Amino acid sequence: MQQDQKIALIWNRLQHSTFRSNFQLKDQDLIYLHKKGMDTMRSHARDFIAGRLAPAFPAKDGKQTPWRGHPVFVAQHATATCCRGCLEKWHGIAKGQPLDDAQQDYIVQIILLWLKQHGGESVNPGDNQQ
Ligand SMILES: [Zn+2]
Repeated sequence: MQQDQKIALIWNRLQHSTFRSNFQLKDQDLIYLHKKGMDTMRSHARDFIAGRLAPAFPAKDGKQTPWRGHPVFVAQHATATCCRGCLEKWHGIAKGQPLDDAQQDYIVQIILLWLKQHGGESVNPGDNQQ
């Protein structure tokens, strides 16, 4: 399956989850998001994924993503990219193995997609191009 198709499929499932589809950005998240911009969000998302999710056995797995404090954290819960358990359950990414670059890119892409849809700001076309 193409990555775009996979994202579309999972996106659809996420929107049917009451728990996942209930996440929203708070005012302070929106202010931060608009101040920093999507490129910064992408780079923060990359750092969080690389540090908190990419190891085969991440520290405090299942609890490594705070519920608030950064727009990316909120997006991670909303997109089920918050821990290795959710990644396995929702995205079919097996636990116990380090995430490769393609998997990390995929996760960053889905987080950015959510931020764009919930950020309330017009998005540059091409922002999501590889
Ligand atoms: Zn999780």
